[in-house]
Amino acid sequence: MTDKLDLENEQKWLGGHDRPFYFFGPCSAETPEQLRSTASGIHKNFKNVFFRAGIWKPRTRPNTFEGIGIEALEWLKEIKREFGFQITTEVANASHVEACLKAGVDVLWIGARTTVNPFSVQAIADALEGVDIPVLVKNPINPDLALWIGALERINKAGIRKLGAIHRGFHMTENGPYRNYPNWNIAIQLKATYPELPIICDASHISGKPELIPHVAQKAIDLDMDGLMIETHINPEVALSDKQQQLSPDQLNEIVNGLTPKSKYS
Ligand code: PEP
Ligand code: MN
Repeated sequence: MTDKLDLENEQKWLGGHDRPFYFFGPCSAETPEQLRSTASGIHKNFKNVFFRAGIWKPRTRPNTFEGIGIEALEWLKEIKREFGFQITTEVANASHVEACLKAGVDVLWIGARTTVNPFSVQAIADALEGVDIPVLVKNPINPDLALWIGALERINKAGIRKLGAIHRGFHMTENGPYRNYPNWNIAIQLKATYPELPIICDASHISGKPELIPHVAQKAIDLDMDGLMIETHINPEVALSDKQQQLSPDQLNEIVNGLTPKSKYS
């Protein structure tokens, strides 16, 4: 049994622009130059996008790049000022939320490794009490729809009405050609449960490689998902995280232009 979510009309908070809503930008903020040149490359072809970049990175293994941290919030603000993009980053605890609210980040997202933990999600929800900011909740790593819904409910109960979900695929023992198995049925069930809840497809973390991104993004559009998140880096080969899946701004443009809008009649 699920409670109804109390949601604000997505057309208002997602900017009212045409679907799909786009979330482009690097996996991680690395340097001010990397962020700026990536944003500039995206801006050549897309004006109306949310610019994403992780600054606190939940890495599977230690001794890998774990993000720049709070300092990169200033770099993100600079991107917003120069290109007019709304900026979004991942938050995993209350201090991340506080830093982002102070810096004026436009949209927060909760990552897949945080959604699995109700204590962490509740701590974020508590930090958001009385705040009006859009929050996107990625699916948990494991294919558990109830856990995903529980996280959405916790954030919504804190008063966040500008709420969305991000489908980033699920870690299974058999992922097929995907980095994370899409298990589309779970996203379809979420949409059927909450028709008013926007769902963004994170084609990069599902695909894990550029070749699969067009197919995954097209499938999301055909299933009437509301937006796409695609990791974009000025020079993917030297990216400090997820380099195997990021697109250059030119590759991004080519792939997005190759997508076919969902036919009203299909
Ligand atoms: C990311 O978006 O870079 C990320 C860490 O994603 P996820 O939480 O889906 O693994
Ligand atoms: Mn990533």
